[in-house]
Amino acid sequence: MNDLYKLNSDVSCCWSCKGPVIKHALFCPTCDVIQPPSDIDHFVRLGICRCYVLDLSELDRQYFHFQRLLHPDKFVCHTSKEQILSQAQVTVLNEAYETLKNPLKRAYYLLRLSGCVDIDLITKTTNSDLLMEIMEIHELLNDADTVDEIKVIEDQINAKMILCETSLEKAFVKENLDIAVELTTRLKYFKKLFEESSSRKIYITGINI
Ligand SMILES: [Zn+2]
Repeated sequence: MNDLYKLNSDVSCCWSCKGPVIKHALFCPTCDVIQPPSDIDHFVRLGICRCYVLDLSELDRQYFHFQRLLHPDKFVCHTSKEQILSQAQVTVLNEAYETLKNPLKRAYYLLRLSGCVDIDLITKTTNSDLLMEIMEIHELLNDADTVDEIKVIEDQINAKMILCETSLEKAFVKENLDIAVELTTRLKYFKKLFEESSSRKIYITGINI
């Protein structure tokens, strides 16, 4: 918990013993009672630095560490208020983890933190080059008759997604939000294509049985 203390020096008051508690501490240092979730961003909640490309094993490690501390099973012999707080803490922890482990959700989240508001609207593209690129892959998928053919297309989509993710990191580091929006849009469309390819594989497997 000492690391968490270093991240934010704001002090609030423990709901149970009224002693001082660092704003986003999980437990009161005086009475050790669980505290309500504070209004902090997902990166701070999971104790990782705010960047686009994450060390996913570190993300997992942090998530499971906090989950072990906060899990409702640990509070079955505690007061009902502590049980409710544990559930509330786990809910926001899960939301943070689900958002940060997903490359597209993470990009959306970072855009939101950077002040972009209506992200669904800004990531709807009218870029004819991108639409053409998507349409071409879409047609390749529709024409593919075997799972192996689809796997080749999936590799291409995957390579494009990885390129988007690498470029997104640079765009966020340089705080170049226009480029970040453009790349998030590309990522969104390629992710959709990847989902399409999975459906196509199921369809082909089905008709070949
Ligand atoms: Zn206390």
